[in-house]
Amino acid sequence: MAADSTRLDRDSTGPEKAGPETAGAEDLARLFALQKQHYLAEPDPSAETRLARLDALLRVIDMGEARLIDAINADFGNRARQETLIAEIVMMISGIRHTKRHLKSWMRPRGVATPLHMLPARSQLAPQPLGVVGVIAPWNYPAQLALMPAAAALAAGNRVILKPSELTPQTSETMRDLIAKEFDPSVFAVVTGGVELGEAFAATRFDHLVFTGSTAIGRKIAMAAARNLTPVMLELGGKSPAIIDEGADMAAAAQAIAYGKAVNAGQTCIAPDYVLTPHARLDETVRALAEAARRLFPEIDTTPDYTSIISDRHFARLKRLVAEARAAGAEIIEVGSSNALDAQRKLPFTIVVNPPRNVELMREEIFGPVLPVLSVEDRAAAIDLVNEGERPLALYWFGADIAARDDVLRRTVSGGVCVNDTLWQFAQENLPFGGVGESGIGAYHGIAGFERFSHLKPIFIQSRLSSGKMLQPPYTARTDQIIKLVRKII
Ligand code: NAD
Repeated sequence: MAADSTRLDRDSTGPEKAGPETAGAEDLARLFALQKQHYLAEPDPSAETRLARLDALLRVIDMGEARLIDAINADFGNRARQETLIAEIVMMISGIRHTKRHLKSWMRPRGVATPLHMLPARSQLAPQPLGVVGVIAPWNYPAQLALMPAAAALAAGNRVILKPSELTPQTSETMRDLIAKEFDPSVFAVVTGGVELGEAFAATRFDHLVFTGSTAIGRKIAMAAARNLTPVMLELGGKSPAIIDEGADMAAAAQAIAYGKAVNAGQTCIAPDYVLTPHARLDETVRALAEAARRLFPEIDTTPDYTSIISDRHFARLKRLVAEARAAGAEIIEVGSSNALDAQRKLPFTIVVNPPRNVELMREEIFGPVLPVLSVEDRAAAIDLVNEGERPLALYWFGADIAARDDVLRRTVSGGVCVNDTLWQFAQENLPFGGVGESGIGAYHGIAGFERFSHLKPIFIQSRLSSGKMLQPPYTARTDQIIKLVRKII
């Protein structure tokens, strides 16, 4: 680990030095002023500087890997090392390496065509850093959802202040410590605290704010940001459907859906929230899902592969949702026994067959390993059911008929789509990731993230030979002739 004196961008001639980053609105205000001052001194860092910052972030991840895995495991109560490696560590490394590979080409001004009547002028779009970006992160993937937006903002030449979730205190403290060792606080700093700090954070006049979390809090963030006209990216949640078409390979579909739901015990924003399957295939779907869950966790009651629920409050909520559906007459199939799992704050993988539409389970995002399976008459009924709800973050479709697939995709609106699998749309760095409607505003990953945190400044470069002057007063018959000519060629 680099010693303090060798931290990236530490410069003794900088405008002002910051002390250690600790919680609290005062620290936030001080850090924000510090970053703003440094931003003004260096508004457009070179590619080399940005690449060095991304390397520092890679060191945070590489050298902090074991500590992050342990902290996340402790915060959850149990989360498999491999799950954290796949869903956080490897995902972050892949995203940052992708950004490093393309950064120089993304930074170049993009040539834009100039219309005939404006020639020989030239036009371009030049990406420019926005300034100081604030990132508010959730608890469910506490490292990845904090550091990926930060990486995109740093790549775009910004400075970043991160506020991780108070529900993962060990991970938040670990990130604060690792980042403080690799970065000068004028470039990237962490503040830790709860709702009060979150509110002060959202009220800060950042040049861009990123919020990943629930739709309810997202709405508050958008309102606080609006007071400053701070642009916001809202990465929210929602009820993401998995639609099984008549011609789907059931074993493959069930395996993909069960895995997508079981990862992190369903505490995943893009987890399939519920399944829609044809009436005729309902029994087969339920059986295949239960079999797939048993294949993933042959000894679910004892395996460390199955993640715990983050808190007693969340655990009680999920149990309440299942109990309500049971009381309403829905058939419940549990993989794993509640008694054995309770002590570890784990919930059985729970399939809920055809619950009534008015139970809470069908009205709010589940965010746990509980999977309602609803049977529908046909494809049109599935589409109608999706469209009755808010626009989801993800939609999963399983089948072989391309016309049926296109019909579903054309008639539904979702943040992203994965066909014949779950979750993979998130990992493809060339695809933007984000929601639409209630599932969010704006997208990042790959070039989408770079552009999100840049101002793509339109620049018109006039030529000495500009014909524009001929349109200036005093107006004459010749002006009218030129107007006529221009009207013909535009
Ligand atoms: P949350 O909304 O409770 O909290 C998110 C963050 O906001 C935390 O850092 C919290 O401290 C902060 N916060 C809470 N109240 C605040 C306030 N009044 N002002 C400012 N900040 C405040 O969300 P969560 O429970 O941590 O995460 C779960 C939700 O996040 C789910 O709905 C899930 O779908 C969604 N999510 C979305 C994505 C995505 O990328 N779209 C990813 C993960 C999670």
